[in-house]
Amino acid sequence: MHILVTNDDGVQAPGLLALATELSSLGEVTILAPDRNWSASGHVKTMHRPLRVKPVLLADGTPALSSDGAPSDCVALALLGVVEKPIDLVVSGINPNANVGHDVTYSGTVTAAMEAAIGGVRGMAVSLDAPEHHKGALDYAAAARVAGFVVNRLLQNTLPVNVLLNVNVPYLKYEEIKGIRVSRQGLRIYRDALIRREDPRGRPYYWIGGEAPTGVPREGTDFGDLQAGYVSVTPLHLDLTAHEQMAHMQSWDWSADEIR
Ligand code: MN
Repeated sequence: MHILVTNDDGVQAPGLLALATELSSLGEVTILAPDRNWSASGHVKTMHRPLRVKPVLLADGTPALSSDGAPSDCVALALLGVVEKPIDLVVSGINPNANVGHDVTYSGTVTAAMEAAIGGVRGMAVSLDAPEHHKGALDYAAAARVAGFVVNRLLQNTLPVNVLLNVNVPYLKYEEIKGIRVSRQGLRIYRDALIRREDPRGRPYYWIGGEAPTGVPREGTDFGDLQAGYVSVTPLHLDLTAHEQMAHMQSWDWSADEIR
């Protein structure tokens, strides 16, 4: 079992080290992650500049590779041959904040796992639901242990490779976590606010600010189950088709002389 570990917070982020350390008991781990923070960068394919990869050492001396590309670039680079040994599984994280609901489209953590699915390799994203105003170093121990557990379940069961797992872990001690639930994607409530200021030359600039997002705490959804103290495991695929609208839309009058 050869596992690629990546993240969107940068190769030196403590969540990545916790994850890589945990997964090294399950197989061989190779780390290829961005050289800086790409949080909320979405699904990126860098096409208009070259990408560099260089060896680095993590805080405990673990060898790793870093790249100036996005998380999804790191996965593509690895799968396309920068990492020579074939990769069986890509695990991304551990992100310090939850990735639930519509977050999955913004998240570099999740889009790294999406890139694995595109490359025909199993992918899994792991995020920790750390409190918004947490001070000091985060404790990734429980989330790392959960990640190892979920990887084991993934290896012992079958799942098509075009399905990736989005795992979110509550910020609790391992013993306090209520269990693991397979949840559907839920709904975030974003509280973005436009902040307009002026630069020294009097020209306006903008920040997308506001408070941290909340969500709809419905049971059976990622956000709801996470709020209730459970690990949420959501199977995702990249088919964004609104299937329930297909028949309805096909009933519209699509006859048009212009395109016949
Ligand atoms: Mn992040």
